Amino acid sequence: MNLLLIEDHLEDARFIRKILNNITSTQFHIERAESLDAALKRISSDSFDVIISSLNLPDSSCDEITFEICRNATKIPLIVLAGIDDQKLELNCIKAGAQDFLVKSKLDPESLSRAIRHSIERKHLDWQLRHARRRLRILHDTASKLESCTMKLKAFKITIKAAELLLNTALYQIFHEQDGILITAATSSELSDRIGSETDLDFGLTGMTFAEKRTFQFESHDDNIPGSITESNVFRSGITIPIASEAVFQILSREPNAFTSDDTDMLEMLAGHLTGTIERITLERQLRNLAIHDSLTGAFNRNFFQIAISREKLRAERYNSRIGFLIVDIDNFKQINDLYGHQTGDRILKEVAIFLGNCIRETDFLIRYGGDEFLLILIETGQTAVVVRERILDSLQLAEATTNIIGTPVTLSIGNAHWDPNTGISIRETLVKADKQMYIHKRSKRTE
Ligand code: GH3
Ligand code: MG
Repeated sequence: MNLLLIEDHLEDARFIRKILNNITSTQFHIERAESLDAALKRISSDSFDVIISSLNLPDSSCDEITFEICRNATKIPLIVLAGIDDQKLELNCIKAGAQDFLVKSKLDPESLSRAIRHSIERKHLDWQLRHARRRLRILHDTASKLESCTMKLKAFKITIKAAELLLNTALYQIFHEQDGILITAATSSELSDRIGSETDLDFGLTGMTFAEKRTFQFESHDDNIPGSITESNVFRSGITIPIASEAVFQILSREPNAFTSDDTDMLEMLAGHLTGTIERITLERQLRNLAIHDSLTGAFNRNFFQIAISREKLRAERYNSRIGFLIVDIDNFKQINDLYGHQTGDRILKEVAIFLGNCIRETDFLIRYGGDEFLLILIETGQTAVVVRERILDSLQLAEATTNIIGTPVTLSIGNAHWDPNTGISIRETLVKADKQMYIHKRSKRTE
């Protein structure tokens, strides 16, 4: 056992060495420092199992000795040796971090041996407690960061950062399922070249975890962990934890048996927080989608119209661009319902929505405006609303789709208008104009 003895008094040092040598159960390798300053230098360069220090040193006070040693040797237990039995001094030393306080005149091999054993054990427990507290704090901070997170990728990155703080000897990656493939979405820095790489759903440990939705742990293995090997990386320990039903959190180490049960518990807890966050974000997105979409056709609903139009109006004013509107109404839809039934009517509405959606660009909006009425908002593209109107009317796709359903093509009446930020005409007035145009179109067919 490596022991640092801090004692400037030669006689006292000899006395303590003698007692230590009489402890038969342990072999001590003793280094001696004669001042606090010399001791601190030793502590920073050598490793010791225990420090025994006199409280009478030439370069410092009793308080300073205990405080400075404990501050510099955070993992090594300190036993202080006092010349006199002073309870106040004893308490101060213990409060400052010493593990034990012994009086020189009462020293004997048995009591010193016990004091050393107990100090080492207490320091070890103390260290474990600090370590656990630190981990809990990290976990707590991470949980509150995740609570306010609204982006899944950000949540993955927060989790990896926390994992690195909890256990910096391991490597981390999170796989996210997208369109039937697992994409490496976030990693610790050493694996960053894997970001964006693809893994099949049935490949290796990651695939198993994803499919079976349970945690797998490899503690020691002669072979590599299935699916975790790359040219430069050979991993001997690993944990894979499913995240919600859409991701896998993987923790890897090049060492066998790298993870204690405490490590595994902490990582499971962290994964639990991430799972909660991912599920919440998914739910929030679904709710947002429900609130702005028409459930039958999947087109946006009128709630969304209010949100989108105020945003697009501001954009058009800023860039001095126009917004095109098309109001589309199905002809004789009531009759279709009456003749073929409501369910067939619903199918026609869906087909019309798909058809209209295919006629506009990704930046435009398709809104179910009323029962059989759709509104298309065309963000200024250089092409006018009338061009899109003609394209819709010319297209045969709708005729084909609806003919398949009811044996006869469905026809549409379409009115168009433009809103221009410079004219002083409101959006409401522009929509009324488009509506009138739509009725003119409808009437024109009746008189044909
Ligand atoms: P017009 O040619 O003048 O447009 O006549 P129309 O029959 O298309 O128009 P009208 O406004 O008289 O009827 C629209 C019909 O749309 C009435 C309503 O029952 C039907 N409708 C509204 N919402 C739905 C729906 O979600 N599903 C179905 N199947 N029908 C709907
Ligand atoms: Mg109609």
